[in-house]
Amino acid sequence: MENKILNQRQLDELVKLQKERMTTVDPATKRREQAKIFGQQVVKLKLATLPQVNECLRLQAQDPAGKTLGEVMVARGYLKPEDVRVIFRMGSGCYGVNGADTVSYDAAILSQAVGKPVRVWLSRQDEMAWENYGPAFVIDQRVALDASGTIVAWDYESWTLSLGGRPGYNAPGNVVTGYLAGFAPQGVMPRSPAPAPMNFDNGSNTAPSYVTGTVGTRSGGCGVVKSERAVTRTSESPFFTGPLRSPARLQNTFAHECFMDEIAASLKADPVEYRLRHLRDPRLRDVVTALQKIDDGSFGSCERCGEGIAEKRLEALPFARYCIDCQRVVEQEERTATG
Ligand SMILES: [Zn+2]
Repeated sequence: MENKILNQRQLDELVKLQKERMTTVDPATKRREQAKIFGQQVVKLKLATLPQVNECLRLQAQDPAGKTLGEVMVARGYLKPEDVRVIFRMGSGCYGVNGADTVSYDAAILSQAVGKPVRVWLSRQDEMAWENYGPAFVIDQRVALDASGTIVAWDYESWTLSLGGRPGYNAPGNVVTGYLAGFAPQGVMPRSPAPAPMNFDNGSNTAPSYVTGTVGTRSGGCGVVKSERAVTRTSESPFFTGPLRSPARLQNTFAHECFMDEIAASLKADPVEYRLRHLRDPRLRDVVTALQKIDDGSFGSCERCGEGIAEKRLEALPFARYCIDCQRVVEQEERTATG
């Protein structure tokens, strides 16, 4: 690799050093490194002198209890707890395995090369052009219908691809910076034959909401279709991919819901009614009903008294069927009915 920032020798050294660190970092080393940074700050801010810090670093090294440098300095009377203020800044949130991971690695490598802190800031354009995208999927589905058009069996098969997992502490090859620095991505771990399920797991919506998800005697799914088969295949990708905040769920749900529309259309059935026919989970049923209400203009009205549901309630519970007063009455009625 040729670049103006690091030559091959520096890069090799860096990779060697990083590999050593990854296998040797223990809590004591970590504490020492944190102490070094803390000590530098204390001297810089003139809270204590360099000889005082060095004395405490020596004491800390002998201390089997594993005190922090700050605790040792307080114990020696060199520092008052009220002199130390930790300011934690919350970073912006985002889904994983995107430009946010890469810039951190870039900054680390660049700062090693130039010997000072480096800030790496991707433009929106850079990020949109080069960050990871969601993995492509091919999803093939079939259903069996009974005489009334109700689904009685659901068959799912998908093919997708991946290059590695999340970068984390010990897998730098899972981001492009680490990959270019000579670390290998984790790759795909084959799981064939797949282990037998112990409990229902919808596998990032691999299982549609319309199945019972029965394993043994327990059913964990949200629907009524009892017979289901799901086969997923993952092969190694030439590209890094990202989970888009919702790993595989966008792709699977898109496939399931498009398929439901196709089935309903082929039967000339109402797509909302057809979905409700296959759902038993009350919350999901309410979500589908709320979508129908948005469509017919009745969204936001209480089903019992017809008054508007408070905006705050709808913000928290967009699929709420009743205003708060009617909700209380309905719940009371349900309690009375069930004894
Ligand atoms: Zn009401």
